Amino acid sequence: MEIAVVGAGASGIFAALAAAQTGNRVTLFDHNAEIGKKLLVTGSSRCNISNAIVSAESYVCADERWMRAFFQAYPPARLRSLLDALGIPIYSTADGWYYPLSNSAHSVVEILRADLLARGVALALSTQVVDLRREEGGFALRFPSGEPARERFFDKVVLAAGGKAYPSLGSLGELFPVLARLGHSVVPLVPALGPLVVALGKFQDLRGLRFDVGAAVYAGKQCLGASYGNVIFTARGLNGPGVMNLSHLAARRSQEKLNLVLDFCFAFESELSDENAKLAASKNPLVFLNRFFPPKASRFFLEYAGIGVGQENEPLTSDELQKLLAALRSVTLPILGIRSFDESQLSAGGVPVTEVSPDTCESTLIPGLYLVGETLDVVGPCGGYNLHFAFTSGTLAGLDLARLAAGL
Ligand SMILES: Cc1cc2nc3c(=O)[nH]c(=O)nc-3n(C[C@H](O)[C@H](O)[C@H](O)COP(=O)(O)OP(=O)(O)OC[C@H]3O[C@@H](n4cnc5c(N)ncnc54)[C@H](O)[C@@H]3O)c2cc1C
Repeated sequence: MEIAVVGAGASGIFAALAAAQTGNRVTLFDHNAEIGKKLLVTGSSRCNISNAIVSAESYVCADERWMRAFFQAYPPARLRSLLDALGIPIYSTADGWYYPLSNSAHSVVEILRADLLARGVALALSTQVVDLRREEGGFALRFPSGEPARERFFDKVVLAAGGKAYPSLGSLGELFPVLARLGHSVVPLVPALGPLVVALGKFQDLRGLRFDVGAAVYAGKQCLGASYGNVIFTARGLNGPGVMNLSHLAARRSQEKLNLVLDFCFAFESELSDENAKLAASKNPLVFLNRFFPPKASRFFLEYAGIGVGQENEPLTSDELQKLLAALRSVTLPILGIRSFDESQLSAGGVPVTEVSPDTCESTLIPGLYLVGETLDVVGPCGGYNLHFAFTSGTLAGLDLARLAAGL
């Protein structure tokens, strides 16, 4: 079969590798001059490739049952074995984030490039696909007028063109109108995994500091979602995984008044058990807070909780301790907005997962068309989950095409 994979990013590369196994003729298109341009910048160029606790429950999508079936079809351990077989051994950090042993996204891309060439995948780079039409027995791909061929016919197509995040790296979302014309639903795309713009008020004083916090987004009293992770106070609000994991909620409900509630004690609950906390606080409140926070933050938190700076050297009463901890557990900051696609690692929105098969990622509306990676409306948190989804969805599509070619 002649197979076109549109998009040489994480999902497209893995689709092409799996599809090319049984003699399929696979062409991998990208309008970038090289493959894996976005992969190169992932994980601060170390490529945070997967996560030890990745599971169906890690993701937000239209149907949890779909995601469970998807992970049954290709369990996480299988992807890790595949990476090893491809020549990309991985290791886990203490918090379960997987990286390649090389700690180099460049190495990952070079290895994948060599694997693609070894399997005979034709690389059609610097080639933009502008349209996709159904034809008798397959699809016609259309290219801009400057290309030598304006149209080419393929039996099957894998659409792996990404979403809209970081458009400078190639994903512009230009093929979503084509999918809509072909009959697919397209949930409007919004930035996800990006910084949050919040009214910091007096918390401006914490600019430049980072904390491990519990974070949750509220619409009135309704909690829309919660996360835990590192956050950094910046001039315009908050950055870091703890809030990036929630930014898609704010983006999808941008017309509503939303609050971010931070729990600065979340990471220290065992140290803050009643007896421990009383013992520690019996000395000096600043020394007590310095166990958990930088001194600048400790002073700020005492003032914020209404415990005078003059009291710094006197032990806290039991009431004051409770007041301090209650204040630190529920710092509420109004959310003003989110940052643009240019500053977000992912886009939420795209085709709902319910319109593709969970075993193969083949469209249930258009047989022979496969949709993978960020083209689908799936949001995973920071920590390797989104590459894991891109690699797995691409592999499932490619394996189905390999099975078809083998007549299985
Ligand atoms: C700065 C940054 C850091 C990140 N870090 C991590 C991380 O450490 N771990 C993690 O799990 N996730 C990370 N992500 C998210 C991860 O990169 C994406 O989830 C993943 O790349 C999605 O893969 P994809 O194949 O769907 O799309 P992409 O990787 O975006 O690939 C799509 C490809 O399609 C091409 N294309 C688009 N339209 C066309 C067209 N019309 N014609 C031809 N080609 C086209 C594009 O040029 C692009 O190469 C990060 C993202 C960013 C932006």
